[in-house]
Amino acid sequence: MNFSIDPVLEKADIQWQESGEPFSRHYQDIYFSRAGGLAETHHVFLQANDLQQRWLQAEQTNTDSFTIAELGFGTGLNFLATWQLWRRTRPGRLRLHYISCEKYPLAAADLSKVLSNWPELAQEAAALSASYPDHSSGYHRLLLGRNPTTEGIHPEITLDLYFGDAAHMLAEQARQGQTRIDAWFLDGFAPRVNPEMWQESLLEQIRALSGPGSSLSSYSVTGKVIRTLQVLGFQVEKRKGFGLKRQMLFAELMPAAPVKEAKIEGARTELAARPRITVLGAGLAGSSTAWQLARRGYQVIVIDANKQAAGGASGNPQAVLQCRLNRDPSAEWQFNLHSYLYACRLYTWLTHTGHKPFHWHDCGVLTLASAYRHTRKTGSATNYPHYDAQVLHAVTAEQASNIANIRVDEPGVFMPGGGWLNPVLLCESYLSHPDIELICNTRIEQIEHDGACWHLSNPATGFTHQSEIVILATSHEITTMAQGAGLPVSPLRGQVSFVPTTANSGKLSCVVCASRYLTPAFGDDHSIGASYIKNSTDTELSEQEQAENLAAIKADFPGLNLDTPGLLAGRAGIRGGSQDFMPLVGQVPDNRFWQEVDGGSQHLSGHAREVKANHYPGLFVNVGHGSHGVATTALCADYLAAMISKEASPIPASVARCLDPTRFQQRKLRKLSASPRLHSRAPK
Ligand code: SAM
Repeated sequence: MNFSIDPVLEKADIQWQESGEPFSRHYQDIYFSRAGGLAETHHVFLQANDLQQRWLQAEQTNTDSFTIAELGFGTGLNFLATWQLWRRTRPGRLRLHYISCEKYPLAAADLSKVLSNWPELAQEAAALSASYPDHSSGYHRLLLGRNPTTEGIHPEITLDLYFGDAAHMLAEQARQGQTRIDAWFLDGFAPRVNPEMWQESLLEQIRALSGPGSSLSSYSVTGKVIRTLQVLGFQVEKRKGFGLKRQMLFAELMPAAPVKEAKIEGARTELAARPRITVLGAGLAGSSTAWQLARRGYQVIVIDANKQAAGGASGNPQAVLQCRLNRDPSAEWQFNLHSYLYACRLYTWLTHTGHKPFHWHDCGVLTLASAYRHTRKTGSATNYPHYDAQVLHAVTAEQASNIANIRVDEPGVFMPGGGWLNPVLLCESYLSHPDIELICNTRIEQIEHDGACWHLSNPATGFTHQSEIVILATSHEITTMAQGAGLPVSPLRGQVSFVPTTANSGKLSCVVCASRYLTPAFGDDHSIGASYIKNSTDTELSEQEQAENLAAIKADFPGLNLDTPGLLAGRAGIRGGSQDFMPLVGQVPDNRFWQEVDGGSQHLSGHAREVKANHYPGLFVNVGHGSHGVATTALCADYLAAMISKEASPIPASVARCLDPTRFQQRKLRKLSASPRLHSRAPK
């Protein structure tokens, strides 16, 4: 992604017409037909693409999901009408995925205002408005609908809003080569006023993301668009248009179409043909991954060495959800921002849809200047123009005091969507999905592949288990397994301290992060966290770390009178961190990869900037979340599950690259290939 432009998108500039309909000042065009927006949607998009029949057919062939992509989310009318039709059709276990691109998103208030024109869509509109994102650029994934676990059916829908330029956003998905769109809605403003929405390079992305049978419709029948679609292999028809429009466009990609991008490898899997999946580790990374797979129809077994879920670093009573801040827009900034936003939305959705509760308190997080004292040598600690004001905004010490309801002496930033939750209960909530089986007290010592599946075993106890797909979510312990030995994850000890509330501290109404974090009271205690000791795997409580936690928080908030008279109360956990503080998520490279890079790299020519890793078949990893697992595991789990089930990725390719488990070696190779030693071999 290009991170130098528009980290926060401009809002749609709406002019309201007397009829109550929106008009775009920017494009000088209407959002939908004056002859009736909803009827137009049904005619041009839902009926033309024969959605209802195709969903029912897909259900009969036991297909797992159906994906629609739209150019121009606008008011969300097409989306809501599709969702309503979906709810009415209720096609069994088929899941619906709706992707929509938007460069100038409507302000939330404008969206609600325009949608009030259709009382028949009120239920769907209210759900959309409640989750409608801020204007940060990037991929926003929203889960909407009710709880499939308790309703026994999947009326839920995944909505991906790609905020940014459509051609660019779709290219980021196409580069990952793992999904296929079943139906396209081309709904940009008219080609005359909005040519970039109909340009050839965008239609090429549509082709790259389509497969035989993918359909497409639009109200526009512009000759140039039709000719380009034909060249790309679509069979195009003009059909009867809606309202005053005489004609509309329908197209379908033919099976014999030239395969320009042979990237889509069998994106559809039948539910019945699903492989068995085993996840090692029942902490936040493992439990969330298991849940994401189970909600996609997989049977999942989770195995953990501890006597219960979340027995490792995920076992604290209170964990803070905050956005890890980056100084500048970059791929890492996108990841940290969107994993935080995804987690805020998911925890709220889980809480409101009848999943087992986990004390999610979206009370907000105040991050004070001193929180970044050690890592930020320069620049203002409160100036973050690349974050939408809805995500965070700068506050003075006085404003911070009012928000936190205690005295705060520093300025900082406030993140209203953050908060805290109980990670043990969150893991239990994920694992309570009926398609997940949890096996505790079982340490897997080795895994071996026999050409067809993985054999997991513990020679000492005689435990054995088989699985086609294995996901290693064992945090820093991953390096004890032969296949994970090369992964650069190291232990990070963190001790939290529990301190009794006082008359003053009990009023604290949000999480405050200074040189340590302090949570609002849970029962009779606050949590102060956390110490940060590299390469320690000791889980004994330390008097010294408790004293340091307490001293730091007393210095930052002297008025709270916090103390732990003679009491050593807390919990020490070992987190797994990577060198660049980003998680490692994806397929595990086989040992030849490490050998090639570490041992043989000096033989690589100056051109060998990239070594394509061979991967172990069906072996994946989700580790390295450090002290931000509450924020990062939710999106990473969805990303990994989407990769395994060959669905649209919830993150752009450039962001996915920062999670690649081989990235450190690839960087090393790039450096080596550019080094003078290698160039010196070139003839002088
Ligand atoms: N489908 C919408 C609905 O249901 O309300 C109406 C879409 S409106 C006709 C076209 C939309 O395309 C506008 O919201 C506009 O901001 C958006 N748009 C225009 N150019 C774009 C681009 N290059 N990338 C993404 N979105 C764009």
